[in-house]
Amino acid sequence: MTDPPVRKAVPGFHWEGVETMPYKDTGAAPFRDITRQVLFRDDALQCEWRYFEISPDGHSTLERHEHAHAVMILRGRGRCLVGDQVHAVAAHDLVSVPPMTWHQFRADAASPLGFLCMVNRERDRPQLPGPADLAALRRTPAVAAFIRTADG
Ligand code: MN
Repeated sequence: MTDPPVRKAVPGFHWEGVETMPYKDTGAAPFRDITRQVLFRDDALQCEWRYFEISPDGHSTLERHEHAHAVMILRGRGRCLVGDQVHAVAAHDLVSVPPMTWHQFRADAASPLGFLCMVNRERDRPQLPGPADLAALRRTPAVAAFIRTADG
């Protein structure tokens, strides 16, 4: 697609001509209350730049994969798991998710969490944690208290 030189911002963290879609097409991965907007998709740059927004108390899928994520929080407050640490995040914080690192984002109960996420155009499918992975994650109390999975 050929992008226009400027897409004006529309109030509410939308952009002219950018479709707001469900977070994931498959119902297989557990997540709650997220929308996705693809802002840039460029074959030469080999990347996509997306805006995700998690509703208050919602969460992204707990997952890992070979591709990395570069994230900038744009709106609201929440927390994220990266590896074995849980961090509070708010607007303009930067989050780096290295390859094959467990990660999950959650919005605070009283706030949405909106963020830009840059990712490879061609990328591997996310892996979901199995029982052994969950047991390992839950050995860290802060992680055990934070993560949300299909079984709660
Ligand atoms: Mn991911």
